[in-house]
Amino acid sequence: MKDIMETHKDFLIPTYSRLPITLVKGKGAKVWDSKGKQYLDFFPGWAVSGLGHCHPKVVKAVCKQAKKILHISNNFHNALQAKLAEKIIEHSFPGKVFFCNSGAEANEAAFKLVRKWGNPKGKFEIIAMENSFHGRTLATLAATGQFKYQSGFSPLPEGFKHVPFNNLSAVKAAIMDKTAAVLVELIQGEGGINVADEDFVKGLRKLCDEKEILLIFDEVQTGIGRTGEWFAWQNYQITPDIMTLAKSLGGGLPIGAIAVKEKYASVFQPGTHASTFGGSPIVCAGSLAVFEAIEKEGLLENVQKMSKYLLTKLEGLKKEFPVIEEIKGKGLMIGITLSVEGQPVVDRCMKDGLLINCTQKNTLRIMPPLGVRKGQIDKAIKILERGLKE
Ligand code: PLP
Repeated sequence: MKDIMETHKDFLIPTYSRLPITLVKGKGAKVWDSKGKQYLDFFPGWAVSGLGHCHPKVVKAVCKQAKKILHISNNFHNALQAKLAEKIIEHSFPGKVFFCNSGAEANEAAFKLVRKWGNPKGKFEIIAMENSFHGRTLATLAATGQFKYQSGFSPLPEGFKHVPFNNLSAVKAAIMDKTAAVLVELIQGEGGINVADEDFVKGLRKLCDEKEILLIFDEVQTGIGRTGEWFAWQNYQITPDIMTLAKSLGGGLPIGAIAVKEKYASVFQPGTHASTFGGSPIVCAGSLAVFEAIEKEGLLENVQKMSKYLLTKLEGLKKEFPVIEEIKGKGLMIGITLSVEGQPVVDRCMKDGLLINCTQKNTLRIMPPLGVRKGQIDKAIKILERGLKE
C-alpha cells in the first residue's frame, strides 16, 4: 500500500508545505499521529480548534444533529442558524448576522456590504493595513497587506489601499471622498502577532465616525475567546460596524460569519448576497456548542489566567535565551520573536511532542486551546526550552 505522504504528493495540488506527520486523532490539547505518537497541540488547527480537539459538547451536538438533518437550504427557515445568530449578537452589539463558510468568504461578504452601502454615495475604497492577512480569494488578497501573497495573481480587484499598522495619521491622510471603510486585525496573526495600540483603535473609531466610514474588524483569528474576551475589540471599549468571524467559531467545522450593526443590517436584501452552505444546521449545532462550552466552562477566565502564567514562563525563557527578542500578544495568542529563523525550533519541538507554528520566518506562534492547564503549559515550556537550546 502506498504511503500517505506519497499519495498526497501524487494526487494533491501542492498548495501547502506540510509537516512530515499524518494526524489521525485529537482530544483536547492532544493529537496523535498515524504511528501512535502523541503531541501537545499548541497551535490547534491554525486557530480553528480553539476549544481543543473533539470537544465533547461539540461532538455530541454534531452527532445529534447529523441524525436529524444535515443541510437546510437558505430558502427555508433554520432554527439553529437563527439561534446562533442570536448568540453572536448577544455577545457583541445590536445588529444582524450573515453566515458563510470561511474567513475569506466572511471578508468578501463584508467588502460587498461596504460597497453596496457606499456606492450610492460614490464610496468604495477600503483602507487596510500593511502586514495584514485577510484571505486567499482575489478580493481578500487585494485587501491583504503583504506582497508575498499577492505576487503572481495580478490584476487584483481595485479599491484597496494600504497604510502602516498602528499609524493613525497615515489612515487620516489616506482618507478620500471615495473611502468607504477601514479594515483592521486587532492582532495581526500571519503578520507576526502585532497588537493594535489602544490609541490607534480608539482614534480609528472616532475618525470613522467623523468621516462616515465603516470600521471593519477581521476577527477570524482573534475571535471567540482567543484574547480572553469573546472578541478582541472588547479589550478596547469600542465597537466596530462590522466584524468578520470564522476559524474557531465552528469548533472544528467550516464556518464564516459577519456581524453588522443594526444601522447597516438592511444593506443586503434578498438576492444581493448568498452562500449555499452558509449556516447549515450541522455547523450551527457545533458552533452553538462552542458558545455553550465557553460560557459554562469559564473559558474566558481561564484564558486570562493562563495567559498570565504562560507569559511569566516565557519571560523566564527570555532571560535565559538572548535569541528571544520580544514576547508579544494578548490572551492565548502569543508570538515569540527570535533573532534567528524559527522553523528549526518548530521542527525540534515537533520531534519532542509539541506542535507550534512559525510566522514571518522568525516569530514562533503559540495559540493553545482556551481550556489549557498549567501542567500542559509547563510541559510545553520544557520542550520549547530544549528546542531553543539547540
Ligand atoms: N483573516 C484572518 C485574520 C486570517 O488569519 C485568515 C486565515 O488565516 C483569514 C482571514 C482567511 O480565513 P480562511 O482561510 O478561513 O479563508
